[in-house]
Amino acid sequence: EPKLSKKDEEEMIRRSKALEDDDTSSLRKVSRQVYLQKRRDQKLLEIRDDIIDHEYIFEGVKLTEAEERELRYKKKIYELAKEHLDVDDISEYKMPEAYDQDGVVNQEKRFAAAIQRYRDPGAGDKMNPFAEQEAWEEHQIGKATLKFGSKDKKQAADDYQYVFEDGIDFIKESVMDGIQDEDAMPPESPGASSAKSMLQDERKTLPIYPYREELLQAINDHQVIVIVGETGSGKTTQIPQYLHEAGYTKRGKVGCTQPRRVAAMSVSARVAQEMGVKLGHEVGYSIRFEDCTSEKTVLKYMTDGMLLREFLGEPDLASYSVVMVDEAHERTLSTDILFGLVKDIARFRKDLKLLISSATLDAEKFSDYFDSAPIFKIPGRRYPVDIHFTTAPEADYIDAAIVTVLQIHVIQPPGDILVFLTGQEEIETVDEILKHRTRGLGTKIAELIICPIYANLPTELQAKIFEPTPEGARKVVLATNIAETSLTIDGIKYVVDPGFCKIKSYNPRTGMESLLVNPISKASAMQRAGRSGRTGPGKCFRLYTAYNYHHDLEDNTVPEIQRTNLANVVLTLKSLGIHDLVNFDFMDPPPSEALLKALEQLFALSALNSRGELTKVGRRMAEFPLDPMLSKMIVASEKYKCSEEVISIAAMLSVGNSIFYRPKDKQVHADNARKNFHSGFVGDHIALLNVYNCWKETDFSTQWCYENYIQVRSMKRARDIRDQLEGLLERVEIEPTSNPGDLDAIKKAITSGFFHHSAKLQKSGAYRTVKNPQTVHIHPSSGLAEYHPRWVIYHELVLTTKEYMRQVIELKPDWLVEIAPHYYQLKD
Ligand code: ADP
Ligand code: MG
Repeated sequence: EPKLSKKDEEEMIRRSKALEDDDTSSLRKVSRQVYLQKRRDQKLLEIRDDIIDHEYIFEGVKLTEAEERELRYKKKIYELAKEHLDVDDISEYKMPEAYDQDGVVNQEKRFAAAIQRYRDPGAGDKMNPFAEQEAWEEHQIGKATLKFGSKDKKQAADDYQYVFEDGIDFIKESVMDGIQDEDAMPPESPGASSAKSMLQDERKTLPIYPYREELLQAINDHQVIVIVGETGSGKTTQIPQYLHEAGYTKRGKVGCTQPRRVAAMSVSARVAQEMGVKLGHEVGYSIRFEDCTSEKTVLKYMTDGMLLREFLGEPDLASYSVVMVDEAHERTLSTDILFGLVKDIARFRKDLKLLISSATLDAEKFSDYFDSAPIFKIPGRRYPVDIHFTTAPEADYIDAAIVTVLQIHVIQPPGDILVFLTGQEEIETVDEILKHRTRGLGTKIAELIICPIYANLPTELQAKIFEPTPEGARKVVLATNIAETSLTIDGIKYVVDPGFCKIKSYNPRTGMESLLVNPISKASAMQRAGRSGRTGPGKCFRLYTAYNYHHDLEDNTVPEIQRTNLANVVLTLKSLGIHDLVNFDFMDPPPSEALLKALEQLFALSALNSRGELTKVGRRMAEFPLDPMLSKMIVASEKYKCSEEVISIAAMLSVGNSIFYRPKDKQVHADNARKNFHSGFVGDHIALLNVYNCWKETDFSTQWCYENYIQVRSMKRARDIRDQLEGLLERVEIEPTSNPGDLDAIKKAITSGFFHHSAKLQKSGAYRTVKNPQTVHIHPSSGLAEYHPRWVIYHELVLTTKEYMRQVIELKPDWLVEIAPHYYQLKD
C-alpha cells in the first residue's frame, strides 16, 4: 500500500534532483551536512524509498498532507545528518509542525493570563484564565463611559470642561495617615549665603540628621545593620557621607548599591554636589558599560548588578570597608544574590560593615536572614494623603493619565504632579500628547512644565526634575517606578497612579521570559501615594476603582528571583566557584524548576558540561556583562569569523529600542530612511549592523544621524558599549575578525546564542514559537514585518496589544540541528 501519492513522489524526486543540481535556493530545508556528504546520490534514493515504505506516526497531531510529507522528508534528512554528524545523542526530533495549530490570541484571555502569570509565575498555561479574573476583566476591559459636569459637580469641574472636553470622575475613598513624628519635623531653615553652605544646611533638615551620631555608633558596634526609613529621609545620600566623615573611607571604599541605573547616577551627582567635589572623583558611580569612578573614589554608588560582577575580580571585596545594599525592599534578582554573597564574606571579613537599607517596614525578614541583625529605624515624616479612585474602570490608562493631569492642573491648587508610567515609550507618548493638548491655550491655563525621567534620558535632562518650579507654573514629572522609592522629588503634591508597572516575567516551565505590563501590588500603590505627602498634605489619584484595589492587587510584589530567568545568575555563581546552587543561602529560594531550567539552558548553550561544570565556553561567556544568550552569540562569532560584526550587533541591541526615531511630522521620511538599512530583507540585527557601519564610515557624524533619523545619543552609547566588548574579546582571547559579506555566518553566530528563540510562520500569518508553542507576531517596527519569512529567530518578546517578537532575522531551519543538536533533535 503506497504511503505517498504520485504528487508526493514527484516532489521527492524534484528535491533529490535539486540537491544534485546544487540548486541551493530550493534546498533551504536540507541539512548542510547531508548536502556536503559524498555519497549523496545513492543515499537520496534510499531516503525516497524509505519514505515510501515506512509509516510514521506523529503523536496524535493532525497534520495536513503537505505537512506530513514535509515532516517525513525532514525526519529522514535528519536521520541522515545524524550519521554524518559528530553527535551521538540525536534521539528525538521535535520540530514545531507537531504544534501547528492556527490560533489568534484572545485579548481577554491574554490579559487574564498576564495577571495570572504575575500572581503565579509557575502555573504557566495550566491555569484557567477566567476563574479568578472575572471581576478584574469586567472592570478593565469594558470601555468606561465618561461623563462629566453633572449637576452636583463643583464649579471647578466646569472650569476644566471650559478648557477641555473630557474628564474623569474620582471619588475620595480614604485618607492615608501622615507620619508626624515630632522629632523628625524639619527645623526652620536658616538663611544661607553660599550654595555650598545652603546644601549643608539642607542636609541638616533631613529626617535622618538627628540620628547621625546614634547611627554611627550602631554601625561601630555591629557588623551588620538593617536600616529602615521612609523614602526621602536621607538614607541613600547621607549615610555614605556620614561614613566618610567618620573615617570609614580611610581603610576602603564605601559602596552603595541601587537597583536602577538612573538612581545610581542621580544620587551620586547629588552627593558630589553636596560634598563640593566633581562627580567621578571622590564620589562616583558605576553602572553597566559606564564607569564614572577614579583612583580617588571613596563613595561609590553602583547598580546591584555591578557589585555582583565585582565579586568576579575581587571575591572578598577587599577594597571595600562598607557595603550598603540599598533599596533592599525591591528584592531585585541581583540584590537577592548579593545578600547571599555578602553574608558569606562578612563571616570571614570581620572588618567589613554591612548595611541593608529599606524603605518599607517589613525589615524583620532582613534581620532574620542576617542572623538577627539589629534594626535601626529612622522616624519619618509624611503628611496625610487623600486617596482617590476612579468611579468607573478606565479602558486606557494612558489616556486617563493625561486627562487626570490636565484636570489637576486646571482645578487643583498649586503643587507639582508625579505620574507613574511603565516605560520610556509610554513616557514619551504622554509627554507628546500633553504638549500637544496644552499648546495654544495661552493664558487659559497656567504653564505646565513637563519633565520625563527614564534611564536613556541624557543626564542634563534627568537633573531637570529636581529644579524648583517657577512661581505660577506647575511641574509634571513623568517617571517609571524609579520615583516610587529610589528618587525623591521635592514639591510633589499630586500623584497619578495608573496602577501598572513593567516587570520581567518568566515561566520556568516553558523557559519563556518577557517584559510585561502588570498590575502593581498594594504595597507599591501605598508607596506611590506616599510620594505626594512629603512637603505638605497630598492627593493621590488612582486610575482604577477601589474594588480593583481591594480585590485584584496582590499585597506585595513577588521577588524577582521567583519570577525570572536565572541563567545569568547561575553562570555568575558558577564562575565564582559556587557549585551547589540548591544549598546556596537564598533569602527566598527560587523555584527549583527555574534553577533546573537555567542549568538546562546553560547546558544547551554549552556553557556547562553534563556534570554542571563551567566549560571553556562558559568561562568566556561569564566575562561579558550580558545575558548568556548574547554572550554566547559573541563567543560563537569566533567560529564563524565575524566577531567584529557580532559585537557591533550586541552593542546595538544593548542600547535598547532607541536607535531610530520618527518625528510626528516626518514619519514618512523617517520610515524611508529606515528602510535603507533593511534592504534585501536582511533582518533587524543586520539592519542595526548596517546602521552602525554606515555611521562609522561617516566618521561617527552627527549630521549623518540627523539625516537618517537616528538618535545620536544612542549611537554614542552603542559605540561605548562596543569599545568595551572589544576589550572583553581581547580578554577572552577571541581575535577580531570580520566577514561582512557572509551574512549567513553572522546569522549563524546569532543563532548560536538565540536558538531558543525560534519561531515558525503559521497559515494564519502569525508565528508559533518552536520549543514552547505560543502564538507570536513580528513587531510592526521590524524590517521583516511585511516579508514574513517561514522561520525566524527573535531577540525578545514584548507584550503590548499582542505578543510581539522584536528584532528578527530569517533562519534556515537546518541551522538549528547544526548549531544546537542537543536542543533540536530527531524524534522517533
Ligand atoms: P532616601 O534614600 O532615604 O529615600 P535620599 O537620600 O534619596 O533619601 O534623599 C534625601 C534628599 O535628597 C531628598 O530630599 C531628595 O529630594 C534629595 N535628593 C536626592 N537626590 C537628589 C538630586 N539628584 N538632586 C536634588 N536633590 C536630590
Ligand atoms: Mg534611597
